[in-house]
Amino acid sequence: MENLAELRVTEMSYPTKVVYGPGALARLADQVRRLKMAKPLVVSDPGVTRAGLVDRAREVLAQAGIAHHLFDRVQLDPTEEDAFEGLRAFRDAGCDGVVAIGGGSPLDAAKLIQLLVTHSPPLSRYDDAAGGDRFVRDDLPPLIAIPTTAGTGSEVSRSGVATLKDTGRKTVIFSPYLMPKAAIVDPELTLGLPPSTTAATGMDAFTHCLEAYLAAASHPLADALAIDGISRVGRSLPTAVRDGAQLPARSDMMIAAMEGAMAFQKGLGACHALAHALTPISRIHHGLANAIALPTVMEFNLPACTPRLARVAVAMGEDAAARAELLARKAIERVRVLNAEIGVPSRLRQAGVQEADLPRIATRAFEDASHRTNPRQCSEEDLLGMLRTAY
Ligand SMILES: [Zn+2]
Repeated sequence: MENLAELRVTEMSYPTKVVYGPGALARLADQVRRLKMAKPLVVSDPGVTRAGLVDRAREVLAQAGIAHHLFDRVQLDPTEEDAFEGLRAFRDAGCDGVVAIGGGSPLDAAKLIQLLVTHSPPLSRYDDAAGGDRFVRDDLPPLIAIPTTAGTGSEVSRSGVATLKDTGRKTVIFSPYLMPKAAIVDPELTLGLPPSTTAATGMDAFTHCLEAYLAAASHPLADALAIDGISRVGRSLPTAVRDGAQLPARSDMMIAAMEGAMAFQKGLGACHALAHALTPISRIHHGLANAIALPTVMEFNLPACTPRLARVAVAMGEDAAARAELLARKAIERVRVLNAEIGVPSRLRQAGVQEADLPRIATRAFEDASHRTNPRQCSEEDLLGMLRTAY
């Protein structure tokens, strides 16, 4: 047994019903009925509506004679206000469940709307970094999640992220009760995603898998999902970026995104702590922040997890016969090559990050709970050092 922590008691749960496959959207009405929703609130954002995807979901509901109300005003990187506005819509229209369709933003906002239906504000009370999960009860209205990107995996995860009004911080709210009751995972919904969004969201999925696989905790089920996700992204993300109409590559990415989010119930790492600070301060896409910072974080972690990084390299196509030290280095090189192939800049400065902001970003990153499961303990100075290297 490699991991002595496996001798401890651990909880592992994957309770979301997943309806997966090209055309799965047609099964939405079945899931609404199964969950006994009489009038769901359909939560989305203006971009998903413009892409015609909200209408496709509403059409399925209308054909089944299911009444619903639309709230499609969630902003990119949702704020607490989005959740309150959605809550008002939920109450005014007399809804009894939520159907969320979109990327991470609408899905996360939907989880917080669902939370506020039965839990009193402010949202900061439920902040995971402050142990807020203990206040979340199992009495939320049901949620069905329909992802239109392959990245956050929010459709099967137990976390919702929003920027809070009183702190201006991206805050993670984390509870098994936030997990959607059903996910409709239809890769056809991602066929029209532009290459830059495919690349950034795809690297978010990859970072979830990688950080979960390396996280300092025991969760053999998560490890198995994470390593499969790593190999799917490695073989299919370049194709999905280059030729978005390739359904097999889109399907691989959709599965990898789910696997990443299922795996990170084990924990994340320093890369996500940095990304959670970079996005609100430097206005950089969450997935892009992860993609640029990841090779530097892997370098930092190398001494603490060489055997695991070696297995990452093998999952990405390296020959398993080589020495572990050599393979671990190859894993880092593979990630750099993958970034270059999909058009991700190699430096934070090329993504508009200001050098003067780096100390503030490091302070915020250190306050973020994600780095607590990083395989190598890191101080605020370590995080600042990684930011300077990646800059
Ligand atoms: Zn992420």
